[in-house]
Order: sequence, then structure tokens, then C-alpha cells
Amino acid sequence: VIELGQPEHSVVTTCAYCGVGCAFKAEMKGSEVVRMVPYKNGQANEGHSCVKGRFAWGYATHKDRILKPMIRSKITDPWKEVSWDEALDYAASEFKRIQKKYGRDSIGGIVSSRCTNEEGYLVQKLVRAGFGNNNVDTCARVCHSPTGYGLKQTLGESAGTQTFKSVEQSDVILVIGANPTDAHPVFASRMKKRLRAGARLIVIDPRVTELVRSPHIQADYHLPLKPGTNVAMLSALAHVIVTEGLLNEDFIAERCEGKAFEQWRDFVAKPENSPEAMAEVTGVAPELVRGAARLYATGGNAAIYYGLGVTEHAQGSTAVMAIANLAMATGNIGREGVGVNPLRGQNNVQGSCDIGSFPHELPGYRHVSDSTTRHLFESAWGVSINPEPGLRIPNMFDAALDGSFMGLYCQGEDIVQSDPNTQHVAAALSAMECIVVQDIFMNETAMYAHVLLPGSSFLEKDGTFTNAERRISRVRKVMAPRAGYADWEVTIELAKRLGYEMNYSHPSEIMDEIARLTPTFQGVTYAKLDKLGSIQWPCNTEAPAGTPIMHVDEFVRGKGKFIITQYVATDEKVTRKFPLILTTGRILSQYNVGAQTRRTENVHWHEADVLEIHPHDAQERGIRDGGWVNIQSRAGDTVLRAQISERMQPGVVYTTFHFPESGANVITTDNSDWATNCPEYKVTAVQVMPVNEP
Ligand code: SF4
Repeated sequence: VIELGQPEHSVVTTCAYCGVGCAFKAEMKGSEVVRMVPYKNGQANEGHSCVKGRFAWGYATHKDRILKPMIRSKITDPWKEVSWDEALDYAASEFKRIQKKYGRDSIGGIVSSRCTNEEGYLVQKLVRAGFGNNNVDTCARVCHSPTGYGLKQTLGESAGTQTFKSVEQSDVILVIGANPTDAHPVFASRMKKRLRAGARLIVIDPRVTELVRSPHIQADYHLPLKPGTNVAMLSALAHVIVTEGLLNEDFIAERCEGKAFEQWRDFVAKPENSPEAMAEVTGVAPELVRGAARLYATGGNAAIYYGLGVTEHAQGSTAVMAIANLAMATGNIGREGVGVNPLRGQNNVQGSCDIGSFPHELPGYRHVSDSTTRHLFESAWGVSINPEPGLRIPNMFDAALDGSFMGLYCQGEDIVQSDPNTQHVAAALSAMECIVVQDIFMNETAMYAHVLLPGSSFLEKDGTFTNAERRISRVRKVMAPRAGYADWEVTIELAKRLGYEMNYSHPSEIMDEIARLTPTFQGVTYAKLDKLGSIQWPCNTEAPAGTPIMHVDEFVRGKGKFIITQYVATDEKVTRKFPLILTTGRILSQYNVGAQTRRTENVHWHEADVLEIHPHDAQERGIRDGGWVNIQSRAGDTVLRAQISERMQPGVVYTTFHFPESGANVITTDNSDWATNCPEYKVTAVQVMPVNEP
């Protein structure tokens, strides 16, 4: 960090990395940020922070920032720097040309979970009102779309049920498919404090994470399941609860649909769902599963926290519903200390989903086929909205290869690096006739773009982010947009050139419109956010200060609904040719594909991705610690250095995905969640062999 001297003033804003949503004071000298200081009144972090929020903000002024719009007619041509007007005119004329030639549905847009709620809202409005279709999707597609689906089906709302603070009332904490000490560090500190005070801990994870075993924390139960078997494990836990009489009968009778419960109960009670029967699938000893189930059901207030290790599977949505079933079966929902808590990855993944960035839902998770909702937006926007859902991101790629989807507006997401099966994505993008990338750096997706619009960092704009606990917090501008425009202003300019005027002079007016049209945001204003610090939605006349705990007296859908969650093995099988399972995760100092953190001092804490492999698997292949290995899957291959680690179980290897050269998504497959198309990043059959050099 370059110290620039004593601050002259400070601005309170929100970290733009993970879903914890820590508040910071950006301390300024003139127009320069001197340092980021965790804000003691921040309700998500209470003065704490991690190394990303505290130190990794220098990317905002990095020399690699794109500061001039650029265009080119072919991706093999060199980029030509042009004025904003020329770039936007070119993008709009290309989109119009494509729609004239290929039809109204031949273009679409991608909303970024890194951008603000207001910016996401404008992109989906541009697509629905300006493009005239519903071909809008978000990068949540590849992370937490199963959370949206699964929690809506069972509980009635596509969001976590608690505040972070609620963990302080938990007696039992069950963590499944999440590694909060690396991915959500400030919340993990809160959790560890509670654990040190005596709460019991169950960790369901193929790997020995820090929560499983570290100098200060020891899980009561670690269930080291094989990747891809979450639903089998959750069925086995439910089986024990049902067959050993551990159900909360009063809660179920009062709060849940009776018939659906009885069907679920009879299903999980079947012998094939017992821990003994499932042991062959999960690889976990039945007595561990029985002990964990008894602890979860009888240990007092029990809370479940889960992450991408649950959602990024072929049965991601099924697993989310199975988690909700467990919480309802034991009455662990609707009060402090319990609940179902998705740990959202990106800063605004909750918000980007809330504001209508899925192709089937208008803001507030209301289906486009619902005529009342559609008419509300039609009358506010002065257009008609297609009642049919549009294309999801993977469908856009397929349609591009079919020749029916030819133009894309991609704001703040590097789809080439972050979506699965890179070769397939690259082929689809190469087939399109106009790709408009709006980003702060030249990224892998920009290699396929025809128009490059400079993006703005979180320090350069006003807006809001919504964290994993539904908390809406202000993002405040601390410096002028380096390329002249904030992202929301660019979307307005593009819409205007497509013949659709949007008139806002400040993001607060966009939030006012969201609030007017969305019951869960009805009471949210910038003035109230300034007064209260932050607000957890729903915020409306019934809950003017927001809603810390959801589903208190009844579920949002009325009665909670148990859903039968049958385990189905993934198609991604190990074979003699691909005998190991690769799974992926994150490391504390880096963030996602590393576009920001790699351009900060944090790079010195983690300079490359490595492949963790169990000593037994390494020895069998002649792999030495630190040596290069080739990782081959059915989709492709890549080369990494090996790290021999007892954290792994035999047969499972692990890597992070923070550096483009690691090529993690070159080897991931096309498999995806049956309900949402969320990619199955967490299970890839591979072979690993030593090589001399990359
Ligand atoms: Fe930012 Fe998340 Fe770290 Fe908080 S925990 S400082 S939100 S990266």
C-alpha cells in the first residue's frame, strides 16, 4: 500500500469483494484514497475486515485500467480508440442491424454481480424495454442460482433467512460446501468466536478446511464426503432424524404443508436413504452421519451455512431444497441462532438476483408470465414486455452456435474465464457479430469483443450493494469516474441510442423506481439508508426498518413445503482414464478470477494457483511437492504445480481459480444443475500426471 499522507476527509462505503458486505471509511487526501479503514458502525462487519477489503483496492488506479472506449469491426483487427459517442453509436447501430437481420431475440445482456443494484436494474431494463426481449442473465447463474430456486420452492423467498449476528445465538453450526475462513473471512471470525464460546460444529466437506482442524477450532464432526454426493448425505441425515424420532412435530404441524411433509417423511425413511446404505455413495462412515444428525436435531439452536460446494453441482437446487427440508424438519427456522444461510460469493450476487436479472423474473423474483406484475412494469416503462422467459447464459452460447443469437452487452463479467468449458464459450463468442464488453480491465472476454467500454470501480460511483444477509448498503462515490462515466450512465446512453430514453440524474432515483415497483424494496430510500446505515429487505409498511429474521410467524409462501430430494449420481464419472475427482475453491487473499486482487499488493500472498493432491495419489504417480503436473479432463487439460497435502482425501484433487494461466475452467465440463443450469464446477473427473515444464 502506498501511504499518501494524513487523510483530510473520509467517505463511508461498502467493500466490493465478497458477500459479507463490510463497511469501510475511504480516507482521502484531496481526490486520492489514502487508506481503507474498516468502519466500526458497519452492521455487517462491526469494525472488522479482511486483507482484500483493507488492502486490495489499489486496482482502481492501476495502470491497466481501460480509460478510452475502443471499437473494431472484426476481432482480428487492432483496437481503435474512439470517443464515447462514437463507441456507443457503433454499439447501438450494430445491435439494431443484428435485430433487423436475425430478429428481436437475437441479442441480450449480462448483469454483473460486481456492479450496483441500480446498475443491474438498468441493464435488465435496457434488455426488456430497449432490446424488447427477456434475454438477460447474471453471473449468479454460475454460482447461486440454485439458492434462488431451491429456497423459493421450499420457503417462498430466494434469500437467506438470518442476520450474520444471528450466529451468536447458535448452539450448533452446520457448514456444508463452504470454506468461510477463506471466502467470507469477516463472517468466519464471528462464527469462530461463537465456536470458541462453546457452540458445536459439523463440517460437511471433501477437504479438511481450516474449520475442520486448526489450532483454535476442531469440528465435532467432519463428514468428508465424495464430491457430488451432497444430496445423498443430506438424505442420510434426514433419515436419521425421521427414523430416530428427532422431528419437531409441533413446528411441522403448525408451519408446514402436511401432505408434502408426509410424502417427504415416508421417502427419507426408506432403508436406501439410511447412512449405512448411503455410505458407499458418500464414502462417510455411518456412525459419523448418525452422530451429526443427532447433534443437529437435538443440540439447541442449529444453523446451516452453505456455499458453492452445495450449489455448483448437477443437483445443486436439489441440495438447497434438502437443506431447507432439514431446517423445517427440526424447527430450526424463524428465530435467532437458526436458519438457512447461503454464503453468497460476490459482493452483490444477492442484489443482482433481487433486481430482475434472471430471464424469467422481473424485480422481486416475480415471473414474467405473471400478467399483473408485467402490466405494472409495462405501465411504468411505457413498453410491452414479452411474457416468455428469455435465454439463460448457457442458452445464449448454444443459440450463438446455432446462428440465432448474434449480439451481447456484457457488463462487468469475464465470462470466458468464469464460465465452464472455456472452449465452448470461446466458440460461441467467436460466432457472434457484436459483443460489447464494459469492464475496468482488458479481460479474456474482451478478446472476443467488438466494442470495449471503460467500466467504473466501486470507488467511482454511487449506488447500493446487497450482501448475503439481504442487507442493502450504500456505495458512495469517492472519486470521479476515471473514464468519464459511471456504469449506470453508460447504460442510459446506450439505451438512448437504441431509441429508449431513461431519465435519471442520480442512482437514488433508480432506487426510488425499484422501490415503487417492488414490494420487498418498497420502503428503501437513500435517505433511510443514510439514517439507518443499512437495511435488510423486505422493507415496506409492515417492516419499515427492514427484516433481520425471515419466516418468523409464517413462511413467505404461507406454509413451508417439504420437497422430495432423490439423490441422482452425476454423469461425471471417474473411469480408469480419469480416476480422480477435481474440485475447486478460493483462497483468502485473492478474489475469483483475480482481475482486481492480482493488480494489488495481495498478489504477493498468493502468486499462483496450485493443485492439492493427497500423498498417496502423488506417490502412486511419481508426483513431487512443487513439481509440475498435467491435469487432463474430458474437456481439456492444463498444467499447475502440485502441492502434496493431507487436507485432501485420496481420489480427490483441488485447485483455486484466481489466475487465468491456471486454466481451471479449461478442464471443467458442461454439466449443470437440472433446474438452473448452474455449472457443475465442483466435480470434474481428471487424470493427473507429472510433467517437466508447462
Ligand atoms: Fe470485503 Fe468480504 Fe473481506 Fe469484508 S470479508 S473486507 S466484504 S472481502
